[in-house]
This record gives sequence, structure tokens and C-alpha cells, in this order.
Amino acid sequence: MTALNIVLNAGSSSLKFQVFDAGVEPGTPLCRGLFEGLAGDGTAHFVARDGRGETVGEERWQAAGGGHDEALRRLIAWLRDRFAGASLAGVGHRVVHGGPDFEGPVLVDPGVVDDLERFVALAPLHQPHNLRPIRFALEALPGVRQVASFDTAFHRTQPELAQLFAIPRAMTEQGVRRYGFHGLSYEYIASVMGEYDPALAKGRVVVAHLGNGASACALRGGVSVASTMGFSALDGLMMGTRCGSLDPAVVFYMLREMKLTPDAAEKMLYSQCGLLGVSGLSNDMRTLRAKEAGEPHAREAIALYVYRIVREVGSLAAALGGLDGLIFTAGIGENDAATRAAVLDGLAFLGLRADPDANAAGGPRITGGPGPSAWVIPTNEELVVARHMRALIGNAA
Ligand code: ADP
Repeated sequence: MTALNIVLNAGSSSLKFQVFDAGVEPGTPLCRGLFEGLAGDGTAHFVARDGRGETVGEERWQAAGGGHDEALRRLIAWLRDRFAGASLAGVGHRVVHGGPDFEGPVLVDPGVVDDLERFVALAPLHQPHNLRPIRFALEALPGVRQVASFDTAFHRTQPELAQLFAIPRAMTEQGVRRYGFHGLSYEYIASVMGEYDPALAKGRVVVAHLGNGASACALRGGVSVASTMGFSALDGLMMGTRCGSLDPAVVFYMLREMKLTPDAAEKMLYSQCGLLGVSGLSNDMRTLRAKEAGEPHAREAIALYVYRIVREVGSLAAALGGLDGLIFTAGIGENDAATRAAVLDGLAFLGLRADPDANAAGGPRITGGPGPSAWVIPTNEELVVARHMRALIGNAA
């Protein structure tokens, strides 16, 4: 009898999932899918595709609050129908924040969920959505083992200095430190980059994860030594709607002069800044590319996006003491050749020499000649969670 491992990746209004055969080393999922429109009262949408990309399920319904729980009920019913006769071995969850203590994936029990609640204050826009499906599954699927995989855990290898802010020691001891995020993506890239070039696995590499959220990570020998995201997923690079690094005095200005409440200021920095804020048009790179010729603010937003990447990669290269490889990944990194070209141009001083044809073709190698190399490598965070599940719970149903 087939045993299934389900991997869940819950956002504020969406829920992504992949289903794997728990009996084999995770590779192509049996199916993957997405629920959207879960936050409001509008139409929610579910679509599932099989391993070859064929649509194998689709539903629409009127969401009336409780969107994620309803999505999970529908998912379980749909899976029971599609994989009749299969058993459920486990459910794995991407969880943004594991705090200072979780250095790797864990088997979940109610005590672990209580521990993870403590980090809601550190990731208020992500953590509650990540924890909800865990609580739901603990109740709805008693006896089914659950695994939590953290975006922060991969960075716990960083030297102490890379994790410290220059603040009073008592605050550091309270947990105000640099955690770093997108760790599941970096763990995936670190696990496959040696297949592209063995030198990357041993060398000094910066990975730029450029999706809606964006960050970059310095790897030495495949191990995280520094990253652009810090205490929260707000720090570092400019993102779709998040500001990235900001003088902290801007927050005092927002509170005192603009009379924003802390909640309103937080919301603005998470959801009204970045590409959206600077362009005034969109957080979506595809839309900005379509408009850049006629819209100076779209052009400036993209130029600032590239400038921030160039500066941060330079900083990470300094932390590494040099650069052997640069890897682009996630939605923009994998698909937007113009962003990659502009970043390589800005980093030519490090010896990166773009190969325009290879870049336009999407790589994988997009530089030529001697010196450091640059690559496009698609990420796969869900696969990393599936690997964690197999390591922690094996294939027992
Ligand atoms: P998330 O962080 O939500 O997983 P993704 O990794 O899917 O985000 O990245 C979303 C970003 O990728 C959006 O800005 C989107 O415009 C951009 N993107 C996706 N496909 C393309 C493309 N073909 N060309 C340019 N940008 C793209």
C-alpha cells in the first residue's frame, strides 16, 4: 500500500502543497497544487497538477472566513479520493521562524507548537499562518506524524558575529539577533550545486533568492556564514512589497511625525514598500517589465532593486573573503534575464563576466571565461521538507 507524505507551505491567503510517495527518496512529487483567495470572503480557488503538470483537480468556492481550515478539509477529502487505498504517513510544514533553538527539523507535538507560538512576535505576517495548519492537522489527523522545517535553521551555522546586532547584551540574550530566512531554499541549492559544478560545493558562493520575498546568503562549503535577512523577513534586499534594510530612525519618524500606530507602520513596511512602493504600480516584476519603457517610476524601482542586490552581494563577498560563484534562484532570479544581466554588470568588479546568450537562454551557467561563475538554479523548498520528513519519520504509515 502506498504511503503518502504531504508537504504544506501556508501563506497569508494561500496554501501550497506537494504530495510525495513516502516509500522512496523524494524527487518529482505525485502531485502539487495551490489554494488561493483564502483570506477574505471572495472566491477561493484550488488547482492540483500531477507530476507531468497535467491538471488533475480544480475547485472554486465562496470563502467565508476560516479559509485555511476549509482548504485543508478539502485537500484531505480530495487526496482520499485521488489516492484511494493509500495511507497518510506524515504531514510536513514549512515554518518561517524556529527561533534560536531549533537547528533542524522536528517532529511536532502540541508542546512544540506552543514553543513556536513564541516566535509569532518575530514573524507576525508569516508564523501564525504557518502554525494554523499544524494545529488543524493535530486535531483532524490524530496519529499522523507531523514535521516542522524552519527557514531559520539553516543559518544557525553562522559565526556568532554574523548573528549579532550592535545592541546591549541583554537585548541579544532576549533573542534580538539575526536569524536569517529562506533557509529551506538555500539548503536545497546547497544540496544540488555540486552537480552543476563541484567547485561550488567547496567554494565561496552567494545565493540570491529573488522571489516576492528576497534575500541573499553567503555559503562556504555549502554552509551558511552570513545572510541579508536578520531579525525578521523585512531586512536586507528590496522585495516585492517589503522595504529591506532601512535606517531604524525612519520607524520613529513614521510613529512620531506620521502618527502611525506600530501596527500600521509594520503593515506599511511589509506590504506597501519595495517594488510596489517605489513604482507606485505593482509588486510584480512581470508587470514592471511590461511598463518600464513608458513609466519612469517602474524603471527606478527596478534600478533600485538591482542596486540593492549588487551592494548586498558585495557585502556578502566581503564576509566570504572573495567569491567563487553566484547563484540566482526563485521567481525573478530564475526567470528575469534582464535583472540577472544588470546584477552581473554591477558585479563585474568581482571578475564575473556575463555570457549574454546563456543568460537569455536561462543558463544554467550564465558567465564565461576564468574567474567566478554565475548560475541559474531553480529552487525547491517543498522537496527539502519532504527529505526532512523521510529522515525523521521514514516511510512507516
Ligand atoms: P514567492 O516568494 O511568492 O514564492 P516567487 O518565487 O514565485 O515568489 O517569485 C515571484 C516573483 O517572480 C514576482 O515578482 C514575479 O513577477 C516574478 N516572476 C515570475 N515569473 C517571471 C518571469 N517570467 N519574468 C519576470 N519575473 C517573473
